[in-house]
Amino acid sequence: MTRIVKCIVAAGLMLAVITTNAQTTKFIDVANMDLSVKPGDNFYLYANGNWIKNTPVPASKTRWGSFDALGEESSQALKGLLEDAAKNPGENDIMKRVGDFYASGMDSITIEKLGYQPIKPYLDAIKDLASKAQVLTYLNYLRANSISSPLYRIGVGQDAKNVTQYIINIGQGGTTLPDRDYYLKSDARSSKIRTEYAAYIAKLFSLCGLEEYRALANSFSIIHIETALANAQMSRVEMRNPEKLYNKFSIAGLTAITPNLNWQDILPQLGYKTKVDNMVVSNPNFMKVVDSLLSAVPLEDWKIYLQWNVMKDAAPYLSSDFVKANFLFNQALSGQKQQTPRWQRMSSLVDRQLGDLLGQLYVDKYFNQAAKVRMLELVKNLEQTFDNRIRKLDWMSTETKQRALAKLHAFVEKIGFPDKWKNYDGLVMKRDDFLGNVRRCNQWHYNYNINKLGKPIDKTEWGMTPPTVNAYYSPQKNEIVFPAGILRLPFFDFKADDAINYGGIGAVIGHEMTHGFDDQGRQFDADGNLNDWWTKADADEFKKRADEVVKQYDAYTILDTLHVNGRLTLGENLADLGGLSIAYEAFKNTKEGKSNKKIDGFTPDQRFFLNWSQIWRNNILPEAAAQRILTDNHSPGMYRSNGPLTNMDAFYKAFNVKPGDAMYKAPDKRIKIW
Ligand SMILES: [Zn+2]
Repeated sequence: MTRIVKCIVAAGLMLAVITTNAQTTKFIDVANMDLSVKPGDNFYLYANGNWIKNTPVPASKTRWGSFDALGEESSQALKGLLEDAAKNPGENDIMKRVGDFYASGMDSITIEKLGYQPIKPYLDAIKDLASKAQVLTYLNYLRANSISSPLYRIGVGQDAKNVTQYIINIGQGGTTLPDRDYYLKSDARSSKIRTEYAAYIAKLFSLCGLEEYRALANSFSIIHIETALANAQMSRVEMRNPEKLYNKFSIAGLTAITPNLNWQDILPQLGYKTKVDNMVVSNPNFMKVVDSLLSAVPLEDWKIYLQWNVMKDAAPYLSSDFVKANFLFNQALSGQKQQTPRWQRMSSLVDRQLGDLLGQLYVDKYFNQAAKVRMLELVKNLEQTFDNRIRKLDWMSTETKQRALAKLHAFVEKIGFPDKWKNYDGLVMKRDDFLGNVRRCNQWHYNYNINKLGKPIDKTEWGMTPPTVNAYYSPQKNEIVFPAGILRLPFFDFKADDAINYGGIGAVIGHEMTHGFDDQGRQFDADGNLNDWWTKADADEFKKRADEVVKQYDAYTILDTLHVNGRLTLGENLADLGGLSIAYEAFKNTKEGKSNKKIDGFTPDQRFFLNWSQIWRNNILPEAAAQRILTDNHSPGMYRSNGPLTNMDAFYKAFNVKPGDAMYKAPDKRIKIW
């Protein structure tokens, strides 16, 4: 706890540094724009055209833009902290544990010597399994010891219909490729990735000592099982329906539909000590298919499947031939030219696994406490603006408005870093045991999660670490969260004018708030329960407008032929449209918002929209773009920039957009929701 107090001093020092830097910063730099593009034809290219032309994607990245550049800064900061901790483990317990973990990951000589020895005992044990019953018992053992989690997902989370309690959630899983479509589609890209996947499986088996022909045969067995699982999985769009995912089962009830899986026996084997009455199963049909596969698939194939799960989960942490094979497979998916440097893979690993320890070091050195105060002000301004806008809606009844307002004012804000840090009690890090460290971390998180069952809800927990360049809304906690990592330019700066801060972090705040009222979020009430608070007529009016947004984004394409999936990206697109509209109105209440004084040649409104577009600028490799269209529920940067603008009257006015311009929509066609 003393470290938090200390950070106020360190943060004060940082403020001086930031201030000096910022005085020379041009928040909107014309050199990055392309003035030959008409803003009304493609605002994203007008605002970012020269930057896009002049900024290639670095060889070890798949995308490069505002978020990625800040992510790189965070990562460099962590590198410094970790190298320091690795050199000075005697300072304190935090330095020791993060330093030992990082040092073990950087010790490639020890890792190299071990080859695949760290996983060999598990592979041998699986080879000896003599029945399907033994396969199932061993599967539970792998899961309970955080070595691998084959077949399905299971964990503890808030009960969506009674958020004051934790409950076990069981979900679909068991596959390796990033989306079910890769298994099921026959287009050239999907087929190519399946071929690369088969080669990757065969490679890892041969690295573990298997003859090549058998390694190749194994890849067919695995893809066969995973394709059957993929076939039973719901699509990402289907999974956007929280009611459909809420299927409560008693232990006996679930065992009745999956007779090969006796949950009465499984739960204690997985380490659950509390008596369990009910579980929520997101996709019961998937579990039925798992059950029928357990009968249909031969014992030998299940053993291969389990071995594969152990290998693939360990591959990034084993010797260089495993790491290289893993990279080559990822390269086929994402197009990345060069492997991410070792230090960077290790620093993000420590951040993921020991985020609350590394996070303390990070905020001590890099977070300015005053940013929290300024952020709370911005949040309050946006909340007030959102309140006014809800009251004025012409499509919503007073009854639903009252509930919407209650939900809005119940938002919890979390800014910068957690009030309470996890200290990972009992978690030991060893300098000479990298994979062991990874496993002990996984095990700690696993136990932490299952031990929540039966306890009160921990409202202090964060879902992101402090250096993360991102933000989130949690419908079940009804909270909006902004880690320290995003509170920097182009999102936020003390020295920036309001147009910049409102077009940046203001729009991000508005975005997260609007998630509470998007196609999914609106189904949760002020307490966080999945509970319909809408009148039928109001829900219909909302859906009618949301469907317009679906149509708008369905029409956008990338790489000539791939379409944005308007249903998959709906929640994010609604949040962008709502968030930017709210941020703009809040900005208009500021002194700068009310004036017409130009800065660097642009009016306040123009600067607001230019910074909004600037935060979405990026270059992306075609392979990565194609993968994101399938798996990412966010639209590509250009459409995040331009999509909401086509619906905002103020944008037309600020840049004199006229009929005939490519982005022009007639006033009655502009979509307004929040
Ligand atoms: Zn979002």
